Amino acid sequence: MSARPVVAIIGGGFSGAACAYHLIRRMPAAHARVVVLEPRPLLGGGLAYDSDERAHRINVPAARMTLLPEDGEHFQRWLVESGTLADDPEAVTPEGHVFARRSAFGRYVSENLDPFVASGLIEHRRSCVRAVTRAPTGGWHVELDGVSALDADILVLATTHPSPQPPEALHRALSGYPGYVPDATVPGALSGISRDDRVLVVGTGLTAADVIATLDALGHRGKITAVSRRGLRSRGHDFSAYEPFGEFADPPSRSARDLLRRIRHGLSQAKALGLGWHAVFDRLRAQGRDIWRALPVAERRRVVRFLRPYWDVHRFRIAPQVEAVIERRLSAGTLVFRPAAITGVTCSAAGGIAVRLRPRRRRETYLEHFDSVVVTTGPGHASVLSSQAFLSGLAGSGDLQPDAVGLGILVDEQSRAINRTGKASETLYVAGPLARGTFGELMGLPQVTDHAVFVAENIAIQLRARIDQESI
Ligand SMILES: Cc1cc2nc3c(=O)[nH]c(=O)nc-3n(C[C@H](O)[C@H](O)[C@H](O)COP(=O)(O)OP(=O)(O)OC[C@H]3O[C@@H](n4cnc5c(N)ncnc54)[C@H](O)[C@@H]3O)c2cc1C
Repeated sequence: MSARPVVAIIGGGFSGAACAYHLIRRMPAAHARVVVLEPRPLLGGGLAYDSDERAHRINVPAARMTLLPEDGEHFQRWLVESGTLADDPEAVTPEGHVFARRSAFGRYVSENLDPFVASGLIEHRRSCVRAVTRAPTGGWHVELDGVSALDADILVLATTHPSPQPPEALHRALSGYPGYVPDATVPGALSGISRDDRVLVVGTGLTAADVIATLDALGHRGKITAVSRRGLRSRGHDFSAYEPFGEFADPPSRSARDLLRRIRHGLSQAKALGLGWHAVFDRLRAQGRDIWRALPVAERRRVVRFLRPYWDVHRFRIAPQVEAVIERRLSAGTLVFRPAAITGVTCSAAGGIAVRLRPRRRRETYLEHFDSVVVTTGPGHASVLSSQAFLSGLAGSGDLQPDAVGLGILVDEQSRAINRTGKASETLYVAGPLARGTFGELMGLPQVTDHAVFVAENIAIQLRARIDQESI
């Protein structure tokens, strides 16, 4: 390592920013230079929280969102003290829960980092990483856009969400077509959709809910059809008083089948006691990490393949404000969810898109016409290593490999990347949801915060050990 080691964090979304913040709080400035490489002006926003879209709301009550795990109400207090809540009265539900705009959380994180950035303890380089190679002296050589570069002793990958991967046939047929939106997360992506357009939304999860709420807020009144293989849509919260229910980790299941059996049993027991599914899924979420770790890899794959669609729509709930829009449009008949596969797509010369759909478990297909098609299948985590040149480069050199279940990058129990020979790197960490293959439940903000703290702590321990060694 160099005299004052450099910790370079690639990606300054929430994971990268939180990792930098907690690292700085754990060590004297002399221990390391902390550099966050993030092209966005806002540190801490990333894909989820750097959104100008007013209809995008956090799907977790503010009282559970925080940068500081030891102070659960830190964000909620900031909302009040900064005046953000006063500007957004709709954030408060009739039951008194606060569901703030996602942009508010990004600003909160950024404001907490500001003093460290101003003092130089955290350096924010507004650059995009193009390539990363091993430096001859050990450590990493990081090439940035433009002509600059940085040598780092420790590298943290926190670039989490790649662009979605639209279904291939759909993309081939519609690429370049004006009504086609292949990535709904791009700012202003929906601005070309007219008020009365017939819209096909491909995907029915959280991003679909965002798109429906945004279109509605933009004044769209045409028909929206949301399709996915199972047609499952994200559910809302239950604000009645209940405790998490069931036991799934003592002892944990060793197979997806057994896990499913126990969940079904838990659900029927809960029902008999007058409890809803929320209580069972809350317990599953709390025990998610232990459940995941106990499953052999082949069973984890089965969970991802067969249970994940059901897990996702019950575990990741939509904000009540978004749920209200969806319910209103369902009742008005301007929104339908369909379990169906897309079997063909053609654009007509007269304008309009003809989509052939096959309902789930049926052989016959039918044709429906749309003016716009919006892809909401979510980030393409399974192919993250081919999503950017620097990640492909690190995969090519054998420093990174995909995890065995298609959720991200293979890491060890300390969240260090495992290379092609099966060895964990001493200097390459992964912060955030890309480490899910090892840690399981790691997508909701509360878990992502804990993980950022964990990675920061591991790095701080490593840096402290170095200082101790040098002072002997
Ligand atoms: C749309 C969306 C909404 C969500 N809503 C909620 C919610 O309401 N509640 C909840 O609990 N969880 C939510 N989540 C989940 C969770 O909070 C996020 O997944 C979490 O914020 C992950 O942040 P991240 O920093 O790891 O990744 P990202 O947000 O993807 O940030 C990665 C950052 O890396 C940067 N980057 C990428 N490539 C490079 C490069 N080559 N060089 C330099 N920088 C680069 C990007 O600019 C980006 O800022 C949501 C997730 C998404 C995607």
